[in-house]
Amino acid sequence: MTQGDMLYEGKAKKIFLTDKADEVVQYFKDDATAFNAQKKGTVLEKGIVNNKISSRLFELLEHAGVATHFIKNLSDREMLARRVTILPIEVVVRNRATGSIIKRLGLEEGLVIDPPLVEFFYKDDALGDPLITDDHVRMMNLATPDQVARLKNLSLKINEVLKPFFQERGMMLVDFKLEFGLWNGEILLADEISPDTCRFWDIKTGERMDKDRFRKDLGRIEETYQEVLKRVCG
Ligand code: UDP
Repeated sequence: MTQGDMLYEGKAKKIFLTDKADEVVQYFKDDATAFNAQKKGTVLEKGIVNNKISSRLFELLEHAGVATHFIKNLSDREMLARRVTILPIEVVVRNRATGSIIKRLGLEEGLVIDPPLVEFFYKDDALGDPLITDDHVRMMNLATPDQVARLKNLSLKINEVLKPFFQERGMMLVDFKLEFGLWNGEILLADEISPDTCRFWDIKTGERMDKDRFRKDLGRIEETYQEVLKRVCG
């Protein structure tokens, strides 16, 4: 496998072409952004932590029957993945209320959401990733009704696999964001699953173990990311 030209650079990752037309290298950076990139910073070794955690979680999900873009881990900061066409929809699953849903609906922080809630956001930085409904997805041709149903079912299944995995490691999976891609007509889970894209609360102490430490300047960011890595991969 030869790493080729850069195909895309996002806020936390770079995507490189390879000598195979349908495979890419996903490179994880230490750059951190929040609030639609208004806040910027660096979290030392975050790229290494997120690559290792994502690789482990994609393997776990593959074993549970969820098709993902993950092929294999290549190095500390790189994974080999299928080249997919990312759907412009961010799927958020919530087991507890926090973050944007609290501001939007005035819910109490930590409210249990059971059964879990699935929300769609339109992936568009210029618009600030607005919340959208199934009807908006249809109206804007972002996905077919069948694909929407599949995205919801897959996201709930992923939650059912991840929740007990983190519970066993002393972490509550509060909420998370997923991105999916199309590959040969199939929907694959893509992007990453990491403390950047999930919220974890320590079951014993309630301590925030995710990007909220960066968003809210809670301190000990690097140590916390390393602790999550230890619990997930250690
Ligand atoms: N999230 C993400 N990328 C985004 C927006 C949200 O990974 O662009 C994740 C976030 O880390 C959390 C979940 O999705 O785990 C729900 O985020 P929320 O809608 O509460 O938004 P926020 O409070 O981060 O603005």
